[in-house]
Amino acid sequence: MSEAIKTDVLIIGAGPCGLFAVFELGLLDMKTHVVDILDKIGGQCAELYPEKPIYDIPGIPMVTGQGLTEALMEQIKPFNPTFHLNEMIQSVEKIGDPLFRVTTDAGKVFETKVVVIAAGGGSFQPKRPPVPGIEAYEGTSVFYAVRKMEQFRDKELLIVGGGDSALDWTLNLHPLARRITLLHRRDDFRAAPHSVEQMRKLVADGKMDLKIGQVTALEGENGVLKGAQIKGADNAMSAISCDTILPFFGLTMKIGPVAEWGVTLENNLIPVGTETFETNVPGIFAIGDINTYPGKLKLILSGFHEGALMAQKASRYVFPEKRVVFQYTTSSSSLQKKLGVN
Ligand code: FAD
Repeated sequence: MSEAIKTDVLIIGAGPCGLFAVFELGLLDMKTHVVDILDKIGGQCAELYPEKPIYDIPGIPMVTGQGLTEALMEQIKPFNPTFHLNEMIQSVEKIGDPLFRVTTDAGKVFETKVVVIAAGGGSFQPKRPPVPGIEAYEGTSVFYAVRKMEQFRDKELLIVGGGDSALDWTLNLHPLARRITLLHRRDDFRAAPHSVEQMRKLVADGKMDLKIGQVTALEGENGVLKGAQIKGADNAMSAISCDTILPFFGLTMKIGPVAEWGVTLENNLIPVGTETFETNVPGIFAIGDINTYPGKLKLILSGFHEGALMAQKASRYVFPEKRVVFQYTTSSSSLQKKLGVN
């Protein structure tokens, strides 16, 4: 087990509510680390609707999901949070009063006085293609995410899907892989037109293959893949040689390991009180889409408010001796100093 990273507050989830919590906690002098399973910051806004407009962020008539993420990142810059992406929080264990040991699936360990669960709908998990026996190859020959590109050097890759992930990884892994075949069920792609153009040029130049159809069966043994059976759009069957498959069929949200952290759950949501947004475990808070209370609305603006109130109570755990004085950013020179504007 690696040496524990010590922090005041660990935030689980880098969605909009987790990001704004960094700001509210920072104003009260608390240092934060933020962990997210995804390879990018922004939660649902960045993963599910980066280019869609949002019209109900107070004071901002229109901003896209990605635009809001970027604005929040700019706003929290003065507090310099540390992000740990591509890592899932696996366990949260109480070791003091309050002190928690929090562990990621990559073996990273945190010791933190306060935990803020801002995990939204839970963890995004890849959709598994309906191919019999595919589970036996997962983690050895079938991968739903690219954590390290180097892993795919000299591989004979079959990339399946027609969206941005499938096209981006086709283009990014092309220089490393021995050969890439892109397989999609129709000759029409949802990905950015520029990526589709680049892919078609590689195909025209004979540098990769494009096939239209679906995987129906896998060939190999002991988790080592040798090839796949493909059913074409014309129902004709063919075989393709490959040692690795990367299916990109989109993501679903599942509550994931949150269910094992000792906090009470109600229909996969965490009940909290509306004064502090603390859970049944003192020192563990839940804000944003993951929590529930009478009248809860799953809106970004609700999560922002919850973060502000949560920070007040969190400060009592982190600085038990300190009295929190209510201040406005407009007029408090001490807050302005923290923000680097004074
Ligand atoms: P999320 O954005 O869901 O982020 C949670 C993060 O936690 C994720 O990145 C996830 O990977 C991470 N996570 C979960 N479990 C773990 C774990 N164990 N370890 C590490 N990381 C973990 N809201 C509005 O207010 N206005 C709108 O117009 C609007 N439009 C929307 C349009 C669409 C299409 C969708 C899908 C939602 C929309 N919403 C809108 C809702 C809004 O996006 C959510 O309310 C908001 O994203 C919730 O933020 P959050 O930070 O609580 O969670």
